[in-house]
Amino acid sequence: MDQMLSAAMAQPPTQADGGGFIYVYFLKDLHGRWIVKKGESTWPPRRKKEWDRQCAPQRHIWFEYALWVPWRKKMEGLLHLWATLNGAWLGYVLCRYCGVHHREQFDLGRCGGMWTIIRTAMALVFKQLIWSG
Ligand SMILES: [Zn+2]
Repeated sequence: MDQMLSAAMAQPPTQADGGGFIYVYFLKDLHGRWIVKKGESTWPPRRKKEWDRQCAPQRHIWFEYALWVPWRKKMEGLLHLWATLNGAWLGYVLCRYCGVHHREQFDLGRCGGMWTIIRTAMALVFKQLIWSG
């Protein structure tokens, strides 16, 4: 698992990548499971408004602090890989509120809980910074 993450980290960021934020929010699904949704944005408050409008009345519980990273798309990809390797990726989930298939949703329980997500994101950023240092 670490090898796959390391290999992904060693890949250079794409041309379209750049500085921005990783944001995270939580929601409860029909089965009462806690779901993590994450994404990247250059300006999270705008994205937050868009999500809250698009999937209303689904209640989104936003993690207050978005994490700034030098390569937001790459970091989102690394987080996705990490959660998928943990068997937490839920695939393409048809949203009953907006009718769109959301693809960045993960089972919070299988990711080790909220603080494991936050800690992992920070650890990935730190490792990436050293790697490219
Ligand atoms: Zn939706």
